[in-house]
Amino acid sequence: MARLESFDKLVSLAKRRGFIFQSSEIYGGINACYDYGPLGVELKLNVKQMWWHAMTREHDNIVGLDAAILMHPKVWEASGHVGGFTDPLVDCKACKTRFREDTLSEETLRSHACPECGGELTDSRQFNLMFKTQMGAVEGTASDIYLRPETAQGIFVNFPNVVDTSRQQIPFGIAQIGKAFRNEITPGNFIFRTREFEQMEMQFFVKPDESDAWFETWKERRMAFYDTIGISRENLRFEEHGPDELAHYARAAFDIEYKFPIGWNELEGIHNRSDFDLRQHEKFSGKSMGYRDPHTNEKYTPFIIETSAGCDRTTLAILCEAYEEETLEDGSVRTVMHFHPRVAPIKVAILPLVKKGGLKEYATDLKEQLKRHFNVFYDEKGAIGRRYRRMDEAGTPYCVTIDFDTLEDQAVTVRHRDSMEQIRVPVADLQAWLAERILIS
Ligand code: ATP
Repeated sequence: MARLESFDKLVSLAKRRGFIFQSSEIYGGINACYDYGPLGVELKLNVKQMWWHAMTREHDNIVGLDAAILMHPKVWEASGHVGGFTDPLVDCKACKTRFREDTLSEETLRSHACPECGGELTDSRQFNLMFKTQMGAVEGTASDIYLRPETAQGIFVNFPNVVDTSRQQIPFGIAQIGKAFRNEITPGNFIFRTREFEQMEMQFFVKPDESDAWFETWKERRMAFYDTIGISRENLRFEEHGPDELAHYARAAFDIEYKFPIGWNELEGIHNRSDFDLRQHEKFSGKSMGYRDPHTNEKYTPFIIETSAGCDRTTLAILCEAYEEETLEDGSVRTVMHFHPRVAPIKVAILPLVKKGGLKEYATDLKEQLKRHFNVFYDEKGAIGRRYRRMDEAGTPYCVTIDFDTLEDQAVTVRHRDSMEQIRVPVADLQAWLAERILIS
C-alpha cells in the first residue's frame, strides 16, 4: 500500500470531509491552531477513550484525574518551567522569519545567514514557551499565571490527595487527559506541532529501586497500545535519549516514534523522572510529598515513571496510517481511510437502496436500534456506489444496505470497507455481528 508522501493530501481530505479545519478560518486563520470537525471529533474521542480504557480500566492500580489548566504560579517555578522551559530563538533581520537555533544546520550557524533569504541572523536568545496571562479583574494588581505547558504537574501536586483518598498503594499510577499550551517557535506540519494540544499522560509512582524494571514494563506496554488503535509496528520505533538530550529531571528517556511523511518523529515520551518532581514540590510548598509504606512503615519519596503521549499527534499518525488512494480493477481510484474499527468516527452506515417501497422505513427503524450501540450514519441520497465511496473516505468500516430482498428474508447486505466484499447477515444477528468487530474487546 502506497504511503503518504506529504501532509498535503491529508490536509485537503481533512477539510473536505470535516475531520480538521484551520481555526478561525473566516478571519484568515490563526497559525498552528486547528479545530476538529464532525468526523475529527469522533476520531479523537475514540483515541482518548481507547487510551483511557487501556490505562485506567485495564489496571486496578491506575486511577484518573482531571486537574485545572490554571495552577498556582509556584508550580511552574518548582517544576523548572519558569527558569528552564525555553528554546533558543534567532530572527532574520531582513525577512523576520524566526528559527529555533537547535534546528538550524551547521552551515547556517557558521555563516549566520538566514536559510530563507540569506539575510543576517540575530544572536540567539532564550524564549520561554509558556503562555502567560493574568488572573483577577484589576489590571496591575492581578497576578501572573500560566496556561499549563504539560498536564503532568497537575498529577504530581495531587499525589498526596490521591494517596489519602483512593486506597492505592505504591506501585500505582494517575492518568489524565487534557489540554496543554506551548508558544512554540516553529509550529507546523499540520497538527504535528501546534500551540494548543491535548496530552494523555500517566504518572506511575514506584519504589526507587524498582524504577528501572517499571520503566521497561511501561515501554513495552505503551508500544503494544498502538497496535490496538491500528498503527502497525513497522511504522513505530523506540528512540533513546542520549546523556546530553536528557531533560533535567530524567534518569532515562525513550521516545516512541512514528514514521510520519516528514520522517521519524516523536509520538510519545516515556521517562524515568526519578524523585525530582515530588522533591521540588515538597521544597516549594513546604508540604510533605513522601510516602509511608503501610506494611513496612518505611518512608521514602517515590520515583515516577511517566508515559506522555500527544492526542493530536496520535490522531495524525492514525490519519497517515489509514490514508490510501487505491486503484481498482476498472482503473478508477478510490480514496479510503483504513481506520481500525475501534477508532473509526462512524462505525456503520445504514443505506436503503432506494427510498420507496418501505425500504426507507425499514432502514430508519434499523438505524434507531443500532444507534443505541454505535455511532451510526444514515444516508438515503444518491447512487449506492457513490454513497459507498463517501463512506470509504470517512473510514466507515461497515455499510449496511437494505434492499427489497430484506423485506422477504430479513437479512441485509454488509459491505466491508477494505475488501469491498459483500455478505448477507440476518437482521436479528446484526448488532452482535457488528459489536464483535467494533467494540473494545
Ligand atoms: P517535541 O520534542 O516534539 O517538542 P517534547 O519532547 O517537548 O516534544 P513532551 O514534553 O515529552 O514533548 O510531550 C509529550 C507529548 O506531547 C509528545 O510526545 C507529543 O506527542 C505531544 N506534544 C508536545 N508538544 C506538542 C505540540 N506543540 N503539538 C502537538 N503535540 C505536542
